[in-house]
Amino acid sequence: HGEASEVVIPTPNGNIIIGEHRPLVVVAGPCSVENEEMIIETARRVKAAGAQFLRGGAYKPRTSPYAFQGHGESALALLAAAREATGLGIITEVMDSPDIDKIAEVADVIQVGARNMQNFSLLKKIGAQDKPVLLKRGMAATIEDWLMAAEYILAAGNPNVILCERGIRTFDRQYARNTLDLSVIPVLRSLTHLPIMIDPSHGTGRSEYVPSMAMAAIAGGTDSLMIEVHPNPAKALSDGPQSLTPDRFDSLMKELSVIGKAV
Ligand code: PEP
Ligand code: MN
Repeated sequence: HGEASEVVIPTPNGNIIIGEHRPLVVVAGPCSVENEEMIIETARRVKAAGAQFLRGGAYKPRTSPYAFQGHGESALALLAAAREATGLGIITEVMDSPDIDKIAEVADVIQVGARNMQNFSLLKKIGAQDKPVLLKRGMAATIEDWLMAAEYILAAGNPNVILCERGIRTFDRQYARNTLDLSVIPVLRSLTHLPIMIDPSHGTGRSEYVPSMAMAAIAGGTDSLMIEVHPNPAKALSDGPQSLTPDRFDSLMKELSVIGKAV
């Protein structure tokens, strides 16, 4: 239904295109937008390293209601400031449909997180607005579940959907947070024209495993990557253990440029 083989995303730095026959696109930034200084610093560093998009959560879907829930609207204002300062495109998550409009004012791509992948009323509403959508795979979603979730957005009139693999539930949480299912790359290619993003940060939960899985994803043919980067991972309010420092991200980007798709 109305599939786009690539998604064209207008940003202050021009159109960024995510698709099979396009250069690799990299989304980087912290799990959560914590304060102005850290988001601007991270934005500048990931841009200098070659990322095209800044990610950062304003509304956070946390397992525990007592964990940091995100700064909400004030974080959206900080993302707008980072966009203004760097020209990077912005990707941030929507959890609840009343927030769509204010998120769409700041975001160049709206993320639907793993936990909302089958929130069908949210999918219908996000499909009825114009901003491209990044649809993360639910942690126990089959490929069919995932494609049908994408179909809700397409059927509602928005053809610009990117599919993001972020790891599925694993029986062995001792060594990895999730099992990053890189086999989705060839499977999705055979089933859909929608562009593919791989998120090795949530996929492994450990920063030390991220570079290897980022390289594996490129070798496997991904169109784009999402990587969590934090200026001080040990102090991060969410997902510190899986976040790269800006220096490590910069060296990873240099390593990535030697394999597969040009960065
Ligand atoms: C995130 O991107 O920070 C996030 C919460 O991702 P997921 O929905 O994949 O857990
Ligand atoms: Mn995160």
